Amino acid sequence: ASPTAITVGIGRGAELGILIKNGEALEISEKLTTIVFDKTGTLTKGKPEVTDIAPIGTDNRELLKLAASVEKNSQHPLAEAVVKKALEKNIEIETSQNFNTFGGKGVKAVVEGKEIIIGNRTLFKDRNITIPNEAEEKLSKFENEGKTAVLVAADNSLSGAIAIADTLKETTKDAIGKLKEMGLKVVMITGDNKQTAGAIAKQVGIENVIAEVLPQDKSEEVKRLQEAGEVVAFVGDGINDAPALAQSDVGIAIGSGTDIAIESGEIVLIKNDIMDALAGIQLSKKVMGRIK
Ligand code: ADP
Ligand code: MG
Repeated sequence: ASPTAITVGIGRGAELGILIKNGEALEISEKLTTIVFDKTGTLTKGKPEVTDIAPIGTDNRELLKLAASVEKNSQHPLAEAVVKKALEKNIEIETSQNFNTFGGKGVKAVVEGKEIIIGNRTLFKDRNITIPNEAEEKLSKFENEGKTAVLVAADNSLSGAIAIADTLKETTKDAIGKLKEMGLKVVMITGDNKQTAGAIAKQVGIENVIAEVLPQDKSEEVKRLQEAGEVVAFVGDGINDAPALAQSDVGIAIGSGTDIAIESGEIVLIKNDIMDALAGIQLSKKVMGRIK
């Protein structure tokens, strides 16, 4: 395309709320074969809410108190949901000591002299904390509903699970459908567990799911797709997404995302609308003379 066409294209993008940082991004977008979406905050609103509390050998309030007292130290959206629920229920949040994060797995701290661990199955397996069948059944139920269940243990014994659900963005399903119609392979990538990820993917019509990915491994997955010959766009919002945004052929950041994601992306969706990823690709095709 001529430099003029590219300048016009970038200007048109800006009018649409699609910030295109360089002409190259606009030129490559037309060649994309695969589009990879982060789940939380990209396909979903990223404002999760506690939906269910399932204590084991304790009660709802005690479970929520222990969990919130640890999660108060974490910035993770799941942590914010737990703290918010505790505050809503007027549960007193205790002070905690020795807070620690297990990246992509969970958190821990000492509350009232007990070591409280909160996180996913992988973390509980790593730490040899038994999950009784009764709890497994609850977890499966939550996960098949597309909820993320966080497990809570006190001194290495399971105290229950808290189910947390995030809402899909209004346009997610339509946008995925249209991208597939364009012939793109659509992939969802997430640190969340396979069952929850699978349930959400099904709701939006995504067949390719890469779940239980550790934060540092998202970019590896993009590389793998590229090595298989795909031209890859990565759409994400989080700190974890920055390396994958940089690795992809076209990094598309959500405007409300973290600063580092926005810096790493070549295209920024100012309106946070996934549908604008599609509009960006169409704009690219137009600029490159593929459609009249
Ligand atoms: P994503 O951004 O895709 O949700 P993360 O890598 O941030 O993935 O987290 C992956 C998983 O690790 C979460 O689904 C959750 O099970 C667990 N986890 C991470 N941080 C926390 C936390 N603060 N409290 C409880 N669980 C957590
Ligand atoms: Mg995210």
